[in-house]
Amino acid sequence: MNATFSCEFFPPRTEAGVEKLLLTQQALDTVIQPAYYSVTFGAGGATRDRTLDTVRLLTEKNITVAPHISCIGSSKQQIRDLLDEYKTLGVRHLVALRGDIPESGAATRELTHANELVAFIRETSGDHFTIEVAAYPEYHPEAASPQADFEHFKNKIAAGANGAITQYFYNIDAYLCFMDRCHSENITVPVIPGIMPITNFTSLTRFSDICGAEIPRWIRKQLEAYADDKESLQAFGLDVVSKLCHRLLEQGAPGLHFYTLNQAEATNAVWNNLGLS
Ligand code: FAD
Repeated sequence: MNATFSCEFFPPRTEAGVEKLLLTQQALDTVIQPAYYSVTFGAGGATRDRTLDTVRLLTEKNITVAPHISCIGSSKQQIRDLLDEYKTLGVRHLVALRGDIPESGAATRELTHANELVAFIRETSGDHFTIEVAAYPEYHPEAASPQADFEHFKNKIAAGANGAITQYFYNIDAYLCFMDRCHSENITVPVIPGIMPITNFTSLTRFSDICGAEIPRWIRKQLEAYADDKESLQAFGLDVVSKLCHRLLEQGAPGLHFYTLNQAEATNAVWNNLGLS
């Protein structure tokens, strides 16, 4: 199958977290063998350094990495320096984002939107990097309108992005509708669905409310009903997400990007259900 499968990590905060991440990577590699592992990026200085440290750690082990890089909170010079570091480490793939605006609202904004970051990366690094950007089948929470959001997505592709990874969703129609729109507007780059395994109701709802991903009522109600019955909740979540992935691939999705939250079990379980190995 000519599809791209990838897994996302966040940079660990502690030594124990680093060790756990390496075990997680090995477990994912044994089962999925993803094309690459992406590493998220926080706007603050400390998280930026942790992203770089994690990327360094993984590349030293010959693991293919796609660092996320966001422009909010970074100056052009900081981004230029980071791109140079990544080139030195042999990185060829990036996920370029605006990043979330800190609650205080205060952040360096030399580049205000992700399309400007993509253009800046192309300007400074030519075609060295394959660039993914974010796509929002259920629309970005700050979007003025669906049309405006789609136009902004188009701007990122026009600026030189090679592909996109979506925010997670549980309603396949949102993705299929987004893809119809891409086709009708001649956008031919791969748009890979982001997949969030379901393992914990509280954190999933909290995060979904922030990032604008909808949990359909029938899923929310069932998860609520399981309450503290973790085993049933996870079995239900696995079934829902496996069926979603299966249908996405059946409908022609060009791959899957798993938000692993630095855990291998849930992602590997979905993968095993897909029977792709
Ligand atoms: P943009 O594409 O710039 O869009 C942001 C908003 O601005 C949208 O509402 C858009 O419609 C609007 N917009 C765009 N251009 C314009 C314009 N010219 N004028 C007016 N409005 C405009 N966040 C992190 O902090 N670190 C990460 O590592 C990270 N990884 C992610 C990975 C994926 C796959 C996804 C889907 C999201 C990730 N995020 C991450 C979250 C992301 O940073 C947020 O969703 C952020 O709020 C928007 O980033 P963006 O790149 O989509 O921004």
